[in-house]
Amino acid sequence: MSTWRTNIREVTPYTPGEQPNKENMIKLNTNENPYPPSPMVEAGGKEMEDWRLYPDPSVTKLVHALAQYHGLLDEQVFVGVGSDDVLAMSFLTFFNSDKPILFPDITYSFYDVWAELYKIPYKRVPLTEQFRLVKEDYQQENGGIVFPNPNAPTGILEPVSFVEDIVRGNPDSVVIVDEAYIDFGGETCLNLIHRYENLLVVRTYSKSRSLAGLRVGYCMGNKELIEALNNVKQSYNSYTMNQAAIALGTASLKDEDYFREHVAKIISTREWVGEELRKLHFSFAPSSANFLFITHERVKAKDIFEMLKEQDIYVRYFDKPRIDNYLRVTIGTDEQMQQFIDALKRYLNVK
Ligand SMILES: *Cc1c(COP(=O)(O)O)cnc(C)c1O
Repeated sequence: MSTWRTNIREVTPYTPGEQPNKENMIKLNTNENPYPPSPMVEAGGKEMEDWRLYPDPSVTKLVHALAQYHGLLDEQVFVGVGSDDVLAMSFLTFFNSDKPILFPDITYSFYDVWAELYKIPYKRVPLTEQFRLVKEDYQQENGGIVFPNPNAPTGILEPVSFVEDIVRGNPDSVVIVDEAYIDFGGETCLNLIHRYENLLVVRTYSKSRSLAGLRVGYCMGNKELIEALNNVKQSYNSYTMNQAAIALGTASLKDEDYFREHVAKIISTREWVGEELRKLHFSFAPSSANFLFITHERVKAKDIFEMLKEQDIYVRYFDKPRIDNYLRVTIGTDEQMQQFIDALKRYLNVK
């Protein structure tokens, strides 16, 4: 083989959920928010005079707005192009040990992809049969820890005291808690950053703020962690955050009423959909996210997935060990979820 071929960095990329674009489809497969972003976001796009200039590489405006929003100092916040960018930068910055980093065996499927990309040794820590994390398992030697809370794709939340035990038990590692879904009813562990210098809390605009298309994510931690992240980011690409995302992302924070109202709406929809699903003999753990991770007592998940897809109802199916009889269903509007339930009823009654 030619040398250039042997020198190619070979990776198996992350597989995102399908992004079909069909009229009248019901898209419940990538945990997007079914509601539009706050109308105030649009107003943020009116300050276009700056857009001929390169953006501020320190993203001061959005960092400051986020710091104010969370009651932190600017030095405690780092912003990126979606939380995927923030997480990728964090792996590159903090996971440089010869010891393996740890994450659950069932979790966000980008973690192992970044570990492979950056050649970080890693170990998958099995969840229990009920898909719970076991905190004692995170007491083994490691070069870092990352997990979502609530976990994905299960939606299961662990309490703050549980997260604290992991963080306290690993003073020599950076612990990254991915709070992509925390706004849907979970208690954040953000306050722990004041007590533990090794904790990084990651958030995104993609789910609760209805802005997956804008690509804004951020993380919070002590200023030493944030400074390290900024140094790596500035060594990679100074201008990841574009002017539009900075302006609109800042505007989104101004409409707290809209934010709370729509998050509450999704939570209440999630609760009635759960009741309907139970009546149809599905089971699932209580979810603290904007999705349910469901399995049927009789009918295979894959069959249900395909039946729904034929009707242009998209949910997420993972053909992976332990979870290949489950579906992850994003909570949409009441109308969308009613159609989803109706399709299940029609199918299960004749099956
Ligand atoms: C959706 C998601 C992300 C990535 O979101 P961005 O759109 O890149 O901000 C990160 N972690 C988890 C667990 C997610 O579900």
